Amino acid sequence: MSLKSLKAREDDLSSPQRQLELLSEGIFEEGELPTFKDKIAESGHFPLKPKKLEILQLNLGYMCNQVCSHCHVDAGPDRKEVMTKETMQQCLEVIKNTGAHTLDLTGGAPEMNPNFRWFVEEASKAGIKDFIARSNLTIILANKKYHDLPDFFKKHNVHVVSSLPFYKREKTDKQRGNGVFDKSIKALQLLNEVGYAQPGSDLKLDLVYNPSGAFLPTNQAAMENDFKKALKEDFNIDFNSLFAITNLPISRFLEYLIASENYEDYMYSLVDAYNPAAVENVMCTNTISISWDGWLYDCDFNQMLDLKVNSKVKHISEYNEDLLNDRNIIISQHCYGCTAGAGSSCQGSTI
Ligand code: SF4
Ligand code: SF4
Repeated sequence: MSLKSLKAREDDLSSPQRQLELLSEGIFEEGELPTFKDKIAESGHFPLKPKKLEILQLNLGYMCNQVCSHCHVDAGPDRKEVMTKETMQQCLEVIKNTGAHTLDLTGGAPEMNPNFRWFVEEASKAGIKDFIARSNLTIILANKKYHDLPDFFKKHNVHVVSSLPFYKREKTDKQRGNGVFDKSIKALQLLNEVGYAQPGSDLKLDLVYNPSGAFLPTNQAAMENDFKKALKEDFNIDFNSLFAITNLPISRFLEYLIASENYEDYMYSLVDAYNPAAVENVMCTNTISISWDGWLYDCDFNQMLDLKVNSKVKHISEYNEDLLNDRNIIISQHCYGCTAGAGSSCQGSTI
């Protein structure tokens, strides 16, 4: 099937099933694009196995105050999926006994979950010291009830990780919506004011860059320098590190690739940039992802494709770390996004 005819079909790509079909067959002839399974087998990495569990990543819901064009969660204000207090309580039971040291809270906008603060406080009491909140920044200014988030983050020593596609208004607003850049800048200044990323402070503030089109990120360290220089000079903003993340060909970004007729080229560029050294540290090897309704996944991307963990244990209510550590990780063609170039994960490059 050609890319044009694929585009003409106007598929409903919100269905995980349809996305998986496209990824495994799509427009490619059999054997035209090597399977990720065959690729990692060449370096002895198949089946892909977990290493030591370090991070529990909780998706607190798909609701978000933004509707970014490349969102792999398909999040937005109209999404109703939100983790309940009951599921959070099940997570807390797991947190008390897990070997993982980091709790990574994501969404949507995780702060929009009505029990977000309660959960952070309870997880803190349960002994979690290392919190990550993936904040889109604009939420801090979206409504009066979020204005004190910088102080709340500070109180619980939450490590704030925030998306900022670029240090210029035009590119950021194009990807994330009009006015997002100015609000993000204001939110970063507020975080700096309470001590984030300041000399001698433990409060960490990292930024996430993802490309605005069908291309791969360039060198993370060089981009970090550019971001630091521009944000300091133009807005007196400090941050700690920049994570450069590759857009995976799923969800809204897959729709964009097909609509812009870039899907084929993008898949080839991911495969061409395949780096066997990056397989070693793909994030599914040290992370378990938990969905808003308590299902367990190898990563946030598999969650969006509804590929639950390959284990007898599939839900937080039946969590068993030993059984989970023994599983084979479920892979497909989207995994090429994690192994291109210097590798990509929620913590940026993996090499
Ligand atoms: S802020 Fe994040 S979760 Fe919300 S729409 Fe944008 S990318 Fe998706
Ligand atoms: S997409 Fe998920 S399962 Fe695939 S390599 Fe990346 S982290 Fe692992």
